[in-house]
Amino acid sequence: METLARDLLDWYDRHARVMPWRVGPSDRQRGLRPDPYRVWLSEVMLQQTTVAAVRDYFHRFTTRWPTVEDLAAAEDGAVMGEWAGLGYYARARNLLKCARVVARDHDGVFPDTREDLLALPGIGPYTAAAISAIAFDRPEPVMDGNVERVMARLFEIHTPLPAAKPELAAYAAMLTPQERPGDYAQAVMDLGATICTPKSPACGICPLRPPCAARAAGTAAELPKKTPKKPKPTRRGIVYLAQREDGAWLLERRPDRGLLGGMLGWPGSDWDEAPVEAPPIAADWATLPAEVRHTFTHFHLILSVRHAVVPLGQAPHSGHFVPQSAFRPSDLPTVMRKAFDLLRGA
Ligand code: SF4
Repeated sequence: METLARDLLDWYDRHARVMPWRVGPSDRQRGLRPDPYRVWLSEVMLQQTTVAAVRDYFHRFTTRWPTVEDLAAAEDGAVMGEWAGLGYYARARNLLKCARVVARDHDGVFPDTREDLLALPGIGPYTAAAISAIAFDRPEPVMDGNVERVMARLFEIHTPLPAAKPELAAYAAMLTPQERPGDYAQAVMDLGATICTPKSPACGICPLRPPCAARAAGTAAELPKKTPKKPKPTRRGIVYLAQREDGAWLLERRPDRGLLGGMLGWPGSDWDEAPVEAPPIAADWATLPAEVRHTFTHFHLILSVRHAVVPLGQAPHSGHFVPQSAFRPSDLPTVMRKAFDLLRGA
């Protein structure tokens, strides 16, 4: 098994992807070490999001808040605004909580073991292992979708996911070397992202071709197997886009708990099978002919969009007016921005 890790590290030394939060293998050999803050931030952003989608966000965050102390001192609204569009907003709230705990309780220094990292807000087993391996070079197996796929193929595991997870994790732990475990963790991820891809693995140029059981059996493309997911339900909702005569928009900050918690959004109804009208201000509402469609982790959403222009001086039942000069559509989560885009395009 040592040969396997060595072959993979040799491949990584030549083909490592360049990423803004990564210290590449040659820099690492020269003694450069990754900044745990940047590793943590990138790992939280990358959960369920692609590298391509994260790059700009990472750049903006680290430019605006170069250290964990800077982030800890940021206003909640500013962080939620920068996060808008990345989705999974509970992660942004936990990101801020975690930064504040690290700044306050750890003097701005991230703990370096998996156990201590796990005690921080928003850091689960995957992120703790990733930070501990990548930032602190500890031999922690890091299980993401890429690693699961590579393990399922290397050892030709036909048990469907998620039931196969413990078995795949055991194989990943067995392969993790004591030397350069941080580079090794990133090498497996890179292999899964660029060579051992879901639909058409490039076995012909893979450094793990000789020991790979699925390649030998011709089953690579059908692994890992997955238990079919239940279809997602569809919910409906209504949002109200009110603009005052002076251009200000009526917005509300959603409660901290729950979906899109803490994010700015349009006032609206609950989201369920038969939403009830809940206009935030008395007005002559017009309904847009098209609807917003958006998919969350557990359901599809169809939003009906109402629009009205309201006179100055009229008070809303809920929400607050944001002057046009202070309104940035990019501060809205994607589903709310879709409603705004629909109105603009209407
Ligand atoms: S040989 Fe093919 S299936 Fe096996 S690890 Fe490499 S790319 Fe994946």
